Amino acid sequence: MGPKTKQTMKKILKNPTPAVEDVITKSKKRTRKVSQSKPQPAFTIGDIEDFQFREDEVKEIRASLLKWYDANRRDLPWRRINDSDDDDRDRKAYAVWVSEIMLQQTRVQTVVNYFNRWMEKWPTVHHLAQASIEEVNEMWAGLGYYRRARFLLEGAKTIVEEGGQFPKSLKDLLKVPGIGEYTAGAIASIAFKEAVPVVDGNVVRVIARLRTISANPKDKETVKTIWRLAGQLVDEDRPGDFNQGLMELGATLCKPLNPNCSTCPISAQCGALLVSKQNPSIVVTDYPTKVAKVKQRLDFSAISVVEILGSEEGRMNSKFLLVKRPEGGLLAGLWEFPSVSLNGEEADVDARREAIDDFLKNSFGLNLDIVSREEVGEYVHIFTHIRLKMYIELLVLRSQELRRKEKADMSYKYVDMKTLGSMGLTTGVRKAYNMVQKFKQSRSSLLKTVSS
Ligand code: SF4
Repeated sequence: MGPKTKQTMKKILKNPTPAVEDVITKSKKRTRKVSQSKPQPAFTIGDIEDFQFREDEVKEIRASLLKWYDANRRDLPWRRINDSDDDDRDRKAYAVWVSEIMLQQTRVQTVVNYFNRWMEKWPTVHHLAQASIEEVNEMWAGLGYYRRARFLLEGAKTIVEEGGQFPKSLKDLLKVPGIGEYTAGAIASIAFKEAVPVVDGNVVRVIARLRTISANPKDKETVKTIWRLAGQLVDEDRPGDFNQGLMELGATLCKPLNPNCSTCPISAQCGALLVSKQNPSIVVTDYPTKVAKVKQRLDFSAISVVEILGSEEGRMNSKFLLVKRPEGGLLAGLWEFPSVSLNGEEADVDARREAIDDFLKNSFGLNLDIVSREEVGEYVHIFTHIRLKMYIELLVLRSQELRRKEKADMSYKYVDMKTLGSMGLTTGVRKAYNMVQKFKQSRSSLLKTVSS
């Protein structure tokens, strides 16, 4: 630690209330020297460790936030579950677990329907433990990040194998596969009232603004510090409500852009708001520092929606070929239309067809007795680190015996149109299927127009 940092620390220790002022002083110096508009990090990670909340601040933040939460909490199904006895608390813990896993990367409005369907099918952890991965994936279809669903199932099996009682403390929850610090904190505080913090992206933003933390919010040290600050704030009597309040405040008022500071219940304790009033070149959204997004890799794949005619009676008895993805990696174990990766390069229609033909012949011994083959379109599916451009074709083959070549070690199935329309499919597969349906419809309307 450099001499300047030591000096800062001494100042903080001598006077337990200088944090915000200290930041203001530094910000003023900095803006004179460096820039007219953007603040530079106000302090280093070493300094952040000492930016504790004062006792009176903690009290005020707890009281104001809980009052606001009581008046503004969103009515969500997992919040309606009673917690008056042990069984209820276990049910609540399970509901919190399912909802928190679903909420990662997905909007609340979308999650509510999924959650209700899930709880209807598997109302307790015991019911879930009996489910198959197929059923779970199907129920999850459309939520994305399918590993989360797999972890829920694995976690449920572990809990049931170990006696069936839901672990009740942060420490024990962390032993369940798939339950990390965030989820364990949420379950422990909301269902079992353990005074432990929960830090998601919303909480990182709120605390960074409360304490004018400009350091990179993705940095390990910063995150650790924010967990500690959140731990200092969490209300001992109502930890679950406090944690949900803090997350809800971040989601609804203290948003990344255009935060609603004028109605914020903890604006009196907000360092960023104070700094922005003192120094017009600074705005609250300067906190936390914006981090450049990881550049997504561009990839390409050819998708073939293979329709095999059933009989002379037309397409009513058609079957579609679905292939199961390998058990590891992206979308592990999920069903999809046959697809071939184009190894990171664009490929023209001939090259794509050749790649698909090889795949179908080698994997399934399919006799490519082609009735029609048409390009349906393309679309880009965004994964966390990949932008996958998919080229969709509709390949209609004449009726044939459906079998797989002995050497191919992949699971596959043929499903009729009705099953395909109703089964849970990933967003990408559903999109390809819908594109094919639309394509068929527009082609038949065109034919009707031409013949009339
Ligand atoms: S005052 Fe504004 S910036 Fe500060 S916590 Fe409230 S909403 Fe966020």
